[in-house]
Amino acid sequence: MKFLAKLAFAAAALAAGSVSAQTYPAKPVTMIVPFAAGGPTDVIARIVGEHMSRTLGQQIVIENVAGAGGTTGTTRAAQAANDGYTIMMGHMGTHGAAPALYPNLRYDPTKDFEPIGLAAGTPILIVAKKAFPANDLKSFTDHVKANADKLNLAHAGVGSVSHSTGILLGSMIGAKPTMVPYTGTGPALNDLVSGQVDFMTDQIVNVAEQIRAGTIRAYAIATPTRSPALPDVPTTTEAGLPQYQVSAWNAMFAPKGTSADAVAKLNDALRKALADEATRKRLLDLGAVLPSADEQTPAWLGAFVAKEVERWNPVLKAAR
Ligand code: ASP
Repeated sequence: MKFLAKLAFAAAALAAGSVSAQTYPAKPVTMIVPFAAGGPTDVIARIVGEHMSRTLGQQIVIENVAGAGGTTGTTRAAQAANDGYTIMMGHMGTHGAAPALYPNLRYDPTKDFEPIGLAAGTPILIVAKKAFPANDLKSFTDHVKANADKLNLAHAGVGSVSHSTGILLGSMIGAKPTMVPYTGTGPALNDLVSGQVDFMTDQIVNVAEQIRAGTIRAYAIATPTRSPALPDVPTTTEAGLPQYQVSAWNAMFAPKGTSADAVAKLNDALRKALADEATRKRLLDLGAVLPSADEQTPAWLGAFVAKEVERWNPVLKAAR
């Protein structure tokens, strides 16, 4: 009897194990956003996360873990249990630029994660407070060069997209403004709107609505063509700074060793979100560039991250 009971227990445990493996996710999934709520990475995570929750049948809960240009939250994600219940929204900063700027970074973007998929490309814009005394990019760069010591450039911490694209702009125009760090460009944008900081280089999804509302100025978009979301904003080429070309990206990652089954389910849910009309519209209205089918695989993202780390390393070391 005792033996039979043990056997029944073992069989039940085995069944439970296989059921939970088959039914991933069996509980809510935490998605770490390594910046403050309301900023570009957070907005993209919430828009795609909402639709992914429906496909997965489990809530995706956003946890904002801001600090050190996104590297605090990314370290947390790298070290989290690899059971599929903690993932993160990383980006060109955390998984591209950070290794160039943090000699003691506690994660390796190319080795410590399972790539899930690219969520959105996000062109960079040069934006300034409404009262900034320049009507076009040429007078903007002249003013920044002449007054760099009095001007504040807002950014989301060393290694973030806004920081790395900001120092790149400074090195191209030959100016070193005061760099003012925030926990994300959501709070930085609030201070730009109220005029407490002078300018920033930020991802389109954070600034499109304020540009359309006229509460901040946009001097140029750093892509080869204008954005359909902001057709009146000239490209850097049109505006006379063709060498400033930079578009960021946001993508989902799981800790290394997360099962292939969980990664496949998360990738499938991400693809379904990116194929959903209402989700696409929300992202496109904010100026995001949606990945093609080829760009939506985990393998594509893995190869892309390796290229990004290599691309940013010399550029940022030279621009510092
Ligand atoms: N990802 C942004 C940046 O790097 C910050 C944010 O999402 O708030 O500038």
